[in-house]
Amino acid sequence: MHDFKYARPASLAAAATLVKKGGADPVFLAGGQTLIPALKMRLRKPSTVIDLAAIKGLDGIAEKKGKGKDKGLTVVVGALTTHAAVAGSKLVKARIPALAALAEGIGDPQVRHRGTLGGSIANADPAADYPAAVIALHAEVVTNKRSISGDAFFKGFFETALKPGEIVTAVNFRVPDKAAYMKFAQPASRFALVGVLVAKFGAEVRVAVTGAGASVFRVPDMEKALAKSFSAAALDGIKVSPKDLNSDIHAAADYRAHLIGVLAKRAVEACG
Ligand SMILES: Cc1cc2nc3c(=O)[nH]c(=O)nc-3n(C[C@H](O)[C@H](O)[C@H](O)COP(=O)(O)OP(=O)(O)OC[C@H]3O[C@@H](n4cnc5c(N)ncnc54)[C@H](O)[C@@H]3O)c2cc1C
Repeated sequence: MHDFKYARPASLAAAATLVKKGGADPVFLAGGQTLIPALKMRLRKPSTVIDLAAIKGLDGIAEKKGKGKDKGLTVVVGALTTHAAVAGSKLVKARIPALAALAEGIGDPQVRHRGTLGGSIANADPAADYPAAVIALHAEVVTNKRSISGDAFFKGFFETALKPGEIVTAVNFRVPDKAAYMKFAQPASRFALVGVLVAKFGAEVRVAVTGAGASVFRVPDMEKALAKSFSAAALDGIKVSPKDLNSDIHAAADYRAHLIGVLAKRAVEACG
């Protein structure tokens, strides 16, 4: 490993001060499931590792009623909340069972007990599961500086709207009428070769796909068809082009394109 300074601030303000003083490339540590291997392999060479673990109020799950125009119910998940805590939460299981199931399907027990929601979305791995939930569940990403609409958060391959030094503090997921997540997992890591989250909010349907492209994306043709008729049959004949999809040793682009159709239908069926 490269030499770096280690800091464990007790507040967001102290973390922000450390960012300013932290030299060229300070980096945050949450669950370490991505960062520690990257440090070991020298893919990251930060000047300072700023551990977020001692900052109070960054974990936990609560529900919140929207105000004004946006009166919908949201489930607020703190950035340091582990995947295991989301998977086991009675509130998440009651309000958005698809989100609990998605978290339960991440990696293995060790990864789920260390890895966090904030770390996952800040990392923006194209095969990560949470990005599909952020997009399909109309999420809002809250940071120490502002709120970012989920639709504007993921910018591309391992790229987000976060500015250098910005800390994700929570994600607000809107509670849908129905939702289900289906993933075809890479058998060793459990990352998504393809994952599809379908969510219905009244007349609006959102279909978000992870694992298949450089970043999470929606499928407007499927959304329109499902808004007219919310049934697996409504997706008959809708093809996703393999152009621009990922091709690697695990799956070719046309196979991933085919999986999107299969998993979207299964997700609609699972919505009941
Ligand atoms: C064996 C294995 C299997 C896995 N399988 C899956 C899987 O099936 N599905 C899946 O989705 N993921 C999977 N993962 C990834 C896992 O979910 C990680 O937990 C996640 O990618 C990173 O979260 P973390 O809390 O460990 O973040 P860290 O590794 O601590 O940090 C990752 C990055 O995010 C930044 N960061 C962390 N927290 C914040 C914050 N609050 N604000 C701003 N920046 C922040 C860090 O600076 C760093 O750049 C797997 C990982 C491993 C090792």
